[in-house]
Amino acid sequence: MGGGFNLGKIFSIQVRLHYTWFIIFALVTVSLVHPHWSQWVSWVTGIITSLLLFASVLAHELAHSLVGRANGIPIKSITLFIFGGVAQMTKEAAKASAEFKMAAAGPACSLAIGGLFGLIWLLTQGIAPSIAEMASWLALINVALAAFNLIPGFPLDGGRVFRSIMWRFSGNYRRSTRIATWLGRGVAYLFILSGILIIFLRPFGLSWFNGIWLAFIGWFLDNAASASYRQAQWQEALRGVIASQVMTPYYITVPPNITLSQLVQGYVLPTGQRFFLVADEGGFKGILTVRNIKSVPPSDWNTTLVEKIMVPADQLKVARPEQDALSVVEQMNENDINQMPVVDEGRVIGLITRDNLIRTLRTRTDLGM
Ligand SMILES: [Zn+2]
Repeated sequence: MGGGFNLGKIFSIQVRLHYTWFIIFALVTVSLVHPHWSQWVSWVTGIITSLLLFASVLAHELAHSLVGRANGIPIKSITLFIFGGVAQMTKEAAKASAEFKMAAAGPACSLAIGGLFGLIWLLTQGIAPSIAEMASWLALINVALAAFNLIPGFPLDGGRVFRSIMWRFSGNYRRSTRIATWLGRGVAYLFILSGILIIFLRPFGLSWFNGIWLAFIGWFLDNAASASYRQAQWQEALRGVIASQVMTPYYITVPPNITLSQLVQGYVLPTGQRFFLVADEGGFKGILTVRNIKSVPPSDWNTTLVEKIMVPADQLKVARPEQDALSVVEQMNENDINQMPVVDEGRVIGLITRDNLIRTLRTRTDLGM
């Protein structure tokens, strides 16, 4: 999900806040405004509760991330959005047990936090009503967060737990993913259907707003399930393929001693390429992307040489021809790059780009390879 901004790093994991969180902050703060309390107490309680809710969701995601990391699944960033959070993995678990531990860690953490607030509620009841109400609300919301995430539909935590168990017993990752995804979509449609029924029939005193909310969650879950499945299919297609099979030999080489103006006029605009290899008679020197060019103000393009702003060969992430393609993609994800030269004995023999990788894989599948 795009949209959001960086809050900083915790345990060297980038934490991002999605804009939808401002809706949550506002809703929580307003819904806790209590008629019997002074306005001041209401607002302070509301704001503190919002912050504690935020901390609870963050703790849930950190539990996934830290357990994942301890089990060999590197986590790049966490994005907190309206239904909770998403930890962005740079690769999927290699073992069913690792996936099980990582998936279960989040809901377990939320249940523990819920229990803690429950205890605070018990202890402050009748003594400090505003704290007691805040604690009971946070206890409920944390238990609800655990329960929602334990719905056995992929890619929710419950779906991952379900997949890991199926994977453990069948040994078939692909089939387990497929079944978990269908289950996830089934749950999503159930949400949408119940939402629609509530909008029209309004049973149990529920309002049309509850219905829309439920249908929206269903729509969101269905999207998430489809996206995760596409990603899983993509990983499956990469299995057993090596770098030299998906690299392209067609790339453009530019000399290191031309200016950026010459580069843009002579190479970038005529070809529409966004990535160039820099080389001279002495061999491969580095790479240059449109992103590098954009980092220089256009007024300096006449005086800046390619070799000044290229990423030099010794700082580059490169792939080996026999390296498996999945690990190349994981390396690209980890380093946030879209292309990697394939280097054999110091010579560039090809280029792997995301676009080209997708096309190559599609062609391979079409040809039944
Ligand atoms: Zn979770």
